[in-house]
Amino acid sequence: MEYRVLARKYRPTNFDDLIGQDVLVQTLSNAIKTGRIAHAFLLTGIRGVGKTTTARIIARALNCIGPDGQGGPTISPCGVCPNCKMIAEDRHVDILEMDAASHTGVGDIRELIDTVRYLPTSARYKIYIIDEVHMLSNSAFNALLKTLEEPPPHVKFIFATTEARKIPVTILSRCQRFDLKRIELEMLATHLGNIAAKENIDVEPEALTLIAVAAEGSVRDALSLLDQAIARTEAADGKTLVTTTAVRTMIGSADKTATFRLIEKLLSGDPAAAIEEVQAQYNAGSDPLLMVQDALEATHLITRVKIAPAAANDVSLSENDRTRAQSLSAQLSMPVLTRLWQMLLKGITEVRMAPQPLSALEMLVVRVAYAAQLPTPAEAIKSGVESAPAAKPLMPPPPMPQAMQSAPDPMAPSASEKKISVSQPPPPVSKPALSLNSFEDVAALFEQHREGLKHTYLTHDCYLVSFAPQEITLRLAPSLPRDFPAQIAGLLTEWSGQNWKVLTSEEQGSPSLHEQTQARKEKQLQQASEHPLVGSVFEQFPGAKLVSVS
Ligand SMILES: [Zn+2]
Repeated sequence: MEYRVLARKYRPTNFDDLIGQDVLVQTLSNAIKTGRIAHAFLLTGIRGVGKTTTARIIARALNCIGPDGQGGPTISPCGVCPNCKMIAEDRHVDILEMDAASHTGVGDIRELIDTVRYLPTSARYKIYIIDEVHMLSNSAFNALLKTLEEPPPHVKFIFATTEARKIPVTILSRCQRFDLKRIELEMLATHLGNIAAKENIDVEPEALTLIAVAAEGSVRDALSLLDQAIARTEAADGKTLVTTTAVRTMIGSADKTATFRLIEKLLSGDPAAAIEEVQAQYNAGSDPLLMVQDALEATHLITRVKIAPAAANDVSLSENDRTRAQSLSAQLSMPVLTRLWQMLLKGITEVRMAPQPLSALEMLVVRVAYAAQLPTPAEAIKSGVESAPAAKPLMPPPPMPQAMQSAPDPMAPSASEKKISVSQPPPPVSKPALSLNSFEDVAALFEQHREGLKHTYLTHDCYLVSFAPQEITLRLAPSLPRDFPAQIAGLLTEWSGQNWKVLTSEEQGSPSLHEQTQARKEKQLQQASEHPLVGSVFEQFPGAKLVSVS
């Protein structure tokens, strides 16, 4: 038995078999009933949605003469009269089809139009079907326009196109236009199910939905996917069963796992681990550009799941991927997700343009991983630039505490600098007064007791020479009151219940606490301004200024 591909075998030959185009059928039906049939039709829609099939059904509807040879144009062509039969078999001499994609020139159109003046041989109407009509050259369109302006009564044009916008408005205005819609998911799945049943093949319902999703509303694509799925399935006990698993493998929606893993590594703020993941995927044969695109798609999915948890029920997701998307959507905040989206989107262009896409991808990965350590703009505003470099990673760290704690930024302060600045912020106000382990603690205690003036003196005009519990040695600015050390010692003793001494010295000592804070802020601003994310903010907001808000 000759095998015919499903798309051809089940190509609709009448409007009853044409699914999902109710508006078109209704409008055309009215036109036929009232005898107001347009001279030219324009069928638009995505590829595979059924434009040329519809054009042929229209040709039949207009030319059917009924089983008795007496009928007029009808929305239900009989299928048995000579016109119906010959059109279905693509051999009616009065139905002329042309593919404008391969005949774009004015010469081709002139040749075609020359035949317009001859009466149809056997049909009621001579019908010109021009596919991909937007491909015609301007002069070809002009030649066509002359005919469309005064079409002979025995001629009808049916144009089909995927890009109606490219058709001159002078042509558009002379056509009755039908926008063929993508076939809705459920309708397409049902259609596939019906055809499978006719072929005596069992397909799991979820597999049908998967195919319908992948076909994106195109009947032709859906049928050819079903064809492939059947071809890959071996019949057992005389019965063919197409499984969901087989279809998922076939259309390649099997493994989002690697993509989710990459996203997790990116957002855990660990560039080394993220790069390793990229290299592993690359070695396994993944294309750098596809990796970014997949990550972008996954980000979109996670975001959708965050907004509407039902989005996780997407049938193209495996159970494992579904769980992963749900867990990521719960862990990641919306600002983090939108930032990730933007960086990946920008990265696609970079990876595409780069002479070495893998290098570009690695740079992108490093940038995203660093950005994951930054607070989001809202967090930054809340907490001030001061806390930015210490911001925690956006994901709970994987078991690599070492990498998590050390800021991988080469500009980061050395360990000893950090001790003063980043990793030891001033103790919070609520801390018990007794833990006075540094000069900062002492100054903070004065702030706590609302000794504002003395706190200011301590932070601005005192230079620490040495600090030991209960004994502080300071160089004082000359402007300070002579009894300042005694006042400080008295209050410290009173508050702590321990006997504190404050000595003075002529030694230079450390910079004042205030100077240290200033230096730290400058350094952080400097670091922040060198950060790629801040750089990208500047790109988007030219003239923006980086300021410390604390
Ligand atoms: Zn007929």
